[in-house]
Amino acid sequence: MQVHLSRPDITDAEIALVNEVVHSPVLALGPKMAEFEQAVADYVGRRYAIAVNSGTSGLHLLVRAFGIGEGDEVITTPFSFIASSNCMLYERAKPVFVDIEPDTGNIDPSLIEAAITPRTKAILPVDAFGQPARLDAIREIARRHGLVVIEDACEAIGSEYKGKKAGSGAFSDGAVFAFYPNKQITTGEGGMIVTDDEEVAKLCRSMRNQGRGEAGVWLSHERLGYNYRMDELSAALGVAQMGRIEELIAKRQRVAQMYARRLGGLARSAGAAGSAPRHPGLRLPYVAPEVTRMSWFVYVIRVGVDEPTPERQEAVRDHVMQRFQEAGIGCRPYFTPIHLQPFYRRLFGYKEGDFPVTEAAGRTSIAIPFHNHLTEAEVDYVATVLEQALAEA
Ligand SMILES: *Cc1c(COP(=O)(O)O)cnc(C)c1O
Repeated sequence: MQVHLSRPDITDAEIALVNEVVHSPVLALGPKMAEFEQAVADYVGRRYAIAVNSGTSGLHLLVRAFGIGEGDEVITTPFSFIASSNCMLYERAKPVFVDIEPDTGNIDPSLIEAAITPRTKAILPVDAFGQPARLDAIREIARRHGLVVIEDACEAIGSEYKGKKAGSGAFSDGAVFAFYPNKQITTGEGGMIVTDDEEVAKLCRSMRNQGRGEAGVWLSHERLGYNYRMDELSAALGVAQMGRIEELIAKRQRVAQMYARRLGGLARSAGAAGSAPRHPGLRLPYVAPEVTRMSWFVYVIRVGVDEPTPERQEAVRDHVMQRFQEAGIGCRPYFTPIHLQPFYRRLFGYKEGDFPVTEAAGRTSIAIPFHNHLTEAEVDYVATVLEQALAEA
């Protein structure tokens, strides 16, 4: 059996809208982009939404729009996809990492203040795997120190923290969603900046379009810009997906529940007492009670957590991944800590041991197949292979 790690959910609604655009004369900078922006702004409750060609582009534009540049520091998490700290390097600013909470995998707010220096300009929390970071605590720290908050909500469209949506104005000065094919909604490649700040919105609109002024006069460039525009075909996909977003999130929720039911007997859930689990080193995803709605992006389990040494932990994880691969089951180590990536080690001299909680998460985490088409039989197959692999390891 072949079980894919991820798969987009595309229906006739998407195909019809894209088809309509292909047969129209406007393939870029047209009405579908504006419609998609409005749909996301309304959904999140933001005044402005600016569509771009990737989540990475969106993060880069926000870093620039908030004037973060050479020598500035931005506090962020090393347990993320690399784009959330690369966006600072593009501007020669420095990502300053602080470690994560062991259960949620998100930046630990209690460690942030010790990392603030006179050069700190912003905090950039990431909503890992769809779970919002402790956004209210982070906002409060930023307020006390006069810092900007840029929320990387690329994995969290639809999630809610204490009843408020990820990406909303309650938590950040600007946020970014991403629409790569493995995300909750997809535009192929694509991203969306949301903000309530008119000036930031104007700057982002200009910079995504080669630095053109507001009038959009084609050969008048007022500032350094990029081609970060979203095309109309992608925007059409986005409009159709936004029309189905509740259905898409509910389908993912259903798959997460299937895994929880099937794997629940094997694992200990975080904080649970009671009978001993059959595989004490296995952990299912933990969702904090403050997360009033979880919009699942990926399903990441941890294995080998109870092993005595890092080497043993890694060995268990690698064994499970190898068995998955042999069984045709898509999987990925997720995340590999950013500070241990080869060029971050070279640039900043990071080494093993710098962020122990992140590293422990990094060497035990596996993303297992997670998408809307997953069946009970496939979930059962994944669980059976996992059980066997854990018993051997
Ligand atoms: C997907 C993602 C991004 C953006 O990725 P793109 O491929 O550029 O759209 C940024 N940060 C995180 C945490 C992500 O998961």
